[in-house]
Amino acid sequence: MLRIAIPNKGRLSEAALDLFHKAGLKAEFRADRALMARLGEEFQAIFVRAQDIPEFVADGAAEFGITGGDLVAEANRAEVVEVLDLGFGRCRLVVAARQDGAVDDPADLPDGTRVATSFPGLARRYFESLGVDIRVVPVSGAAEIAPHLGVADVIVDLSSTGSTLRVNGLREIGEILESTARMVGNREALEVPETRRAADEVSNALASVLRAQRRRYLMANVPRDRLDEVRKVLPGISGPTIVDVLDQGRWVAAHAVVEEGEVYRTINDLKALGAEGILVTRIERLMP
Ligand code: AMP
Repeated sequence: MLRIAIPNKGRLSEAALDLFHKAGLKAEFRADRALMARLGEEFQAIFVRAQDIPEFVADGAAEFGITGGDLVAEANRAEVVEVLDLGFGRCRLVVAARQDGAVDDPADLPDGTRVATSFPGLARRYFESLGVDIRVVPVSGAAEIAPHLGVADVIVDLSSTGSTLRVNGLREIGEILESTARMVGNREALEVPETRRAADEVSNALASVLRAQRRRYLMANVPRDRLDEVRKVLPGISGPTIVDVLDQGRWVAAHAVVEEGEVYRTINDLKALGAEGILVTRIERLMP
């Protein structure tokens, strides 16, 4: 049975399980708080810390894993390859300094700068690329306080809205990377055709759910003589689907997949063309 490592707690945990469930792979637990579960016919889910997942996948303890792109980059293991960008869990790894600090650009920091971070690998590589020789102060969380305690000059930490930095009297002076949740796989395992096929099937299923979440299915009855204009406001995947309505031929039903952000405008445009009976529904999965 193939193993997929999934975060057992934290920000990515619930979203990952929910995504598998929607893709038709529901975790079946034998007991409460179990760290393993059946996932469909073919897979076993193992629940571990997001930080440990790149390591587990690199070592082949699990063929696949779901974890943050930041953690994959920090682990920097050649055995771990990205299979799919899941798009959620978006955050940035940034360099931040005290609000009253004088430096506005990480490249201007002097050699010997002390950097508090739980991302020592990424911090080292980033400052190396800038030609700045740093000293890493390893912390496993709450790095924001370090510059105020005098144990570090700057921090390298995750930020999404920037409010945690602000509240802690820090300001961002540079960005190292942007991260989202990823599905990763073990490079060697992916060279086995059976495993590759399973990886493709899982990643296609997850991608179909993610694609569907950003779109809606829109149906409306429109006057047949306005069809040319309807086509312009309802682009669909390859044009709208037009279905006969069993009246005297005056109306047809137009169906199309519409981007979530376009639904409001499309409804108004359709109404202006005389549309009636407009219906908008969610889509479970979408495979182009
Ligand atoms: P956890 O520490 O288990 O909550 O997971 C942290 C992971 O969630 C990080 O490594 C990121 O990949 C992701 N993440 C998404 N947004 C944020 C955020 N605002 N702060 C920290 N981690 C985030």
